[in-house]
Amino acid sequence: MDFLHTQLAHLQHQLSFVQTDPIDWKFYVQAFSWGVTLFETYLLFRQYPLYSKTEPPVVLASHFNGDEFQKSQKYGKDKAKFSIVTGLLKQSIDSVMLQYGFYAWSWTAAGCVLARFGYGPEYEILQSLGFAIVLFLASSIPGIPLSAYQTFVLEEKHGFNKTTPGLFVTDLVKGWAIGFTIGLPFLATFLYVFKWAGDRFVPWLMAFLLAFQMSLVVLYPTVIQPLFNKLSPLAEGNLRTRIEALASKLKFPLKHLYEIDGSKRSSHSNAYFFGLPWSKHIVIFDTLIKESKPEEVEAVLAHELGHWYYMHPTKLLCISQLHIFTILALFPAFLHSPYVLLAFDFPKSVAAVPPTMLAFTLFQMILTPLEAVVGIGMNAMSRKFEWEADRFACELQSKLAAPEMKDMGERLGRALVTLHVKNLSTVWVDWLYSAYHHSHPTLTERLKALEAFQAKTEVDSVAKKEL
Ligand SMILES: [Zn+2]
Repeated sequence: MDFLHTQLAHLQHQLSFVQTDPIDWKFYVQAFSWGVTLFETYLLFRQYPLYSKTEPPVVLASHFNGDEFQKSQKYGKDKAKFSIVTGLLKQSIDSVMLQYGFYAWSWTAAGCVLARFGYGPEYEILQSLGFAIVLFLASSIPGIPLSAYQTFVLEEKHGFNKTTPGLFVTDLVKGWAIGFTIGLPFLATFLYVFKWAGDRFVPWLMAFLLAFQMSLVVLYPTVIQPLFNKLSPLAEGNLRTRIEALASKLKFPLKHLYEIDGSKRSSHSNAYFFGLPWSKHIVIFDTLIKESKPEEVEAVLAHELGHWYYMHPTKLLCISQLHIFTILALFPAFLHSPYVLLAFDFPKSVAAVPPTMLAFTLFQMILTPLEAVVGIGMNAMSRKFEWEADRFACELQSKLAAPEMKDMGERLGRALVTLHVKNLSTVWVDWLYSAYHHSHPTLTERLKALEAFQAKTEVDSVAKKEL
């Protein structure tokens, strides 16, 4: 532990300029965040002309009828226009708030409200919660009309929307209620650990954050998701038997197998698994079950179990811990620096002893460019995982010595195509746009890879027989 603290102290020494130099942080944040937004807009402009192509890629040509392809192109075009407008609009609002001292105003406003109830500035955590609520409202409220437009105009126009206005409002209220119920105690504890652990907060906060993530893994499916969707046990039958057999062959600790009524809100569909290492739950969207044959849904599950087999969720968790560690390790330099707060228009009296909440909020804004790079890296990693899971599904025939699984790759391909066609997903994708935004390889890439995996496993099994 002492080694860790010596290294962290060394890093802080490197960053000591943050505490001694009056840097114009606000200018940097404006420049960084506009840089990211303009880059994202540029990517959309690269992608946009591809929606005017009249033919799908050759590999997909046989799967689309002309009408479906045109529909997916129109949907893509509308979504891209929407993204350009919302991206620029959100950034403009953030930028104006930042420029005119909105953060400082929010802190003072939270303080004024608390003062009415007899709580002075010594109740720093309470004031931080008030500040968080003001910021949350300010960032959420402008998003409501945009999200309503997206649901009731954009998705509606292309036949995806199943949400009623009543459901939209209850979802919003439930979402906020859950956000406050979990978010505020979380934030209060987070800030308390900071105060309590002093300069040695890094390992303590990491432990707290990990415990929080773990409890969400348990709470999300059992408490939160049922508030929005209905999970019912998957009916007995061909599909259930297939999945249970596959899970037991792979020694996947399947506890429950659910069907989820995803179609209540939207016709977009999928499947996923979750749970603790010794007790896993699989959830399949009703739309996937309706649109694909049982043997194709089984192939989708084979892909999902590939994620489990290669421990992809655990690997992602480790990377996210490393990410959190980096952020926390860089933070102390910003925690004690009055110059950071002064740069964002906070009064001298507040900046003299920076409240943790403010320092952390501003520090996160300063990290925008780093986060963009981390996002690109995470997407690259995730695409590699998808590729591994696809290969896993193709290799099951030899892994499990199960000749009936030799067409798993084809079945997965068919299921992916069905999902893609029904969801009107984009088929022509600009490489840079994809590298930045996509956590999954494109459909064309996946089909090509599946064919190659399938061919390779066939060659391997012939070679084995000849031996
Ligand atoms: Zn996957």
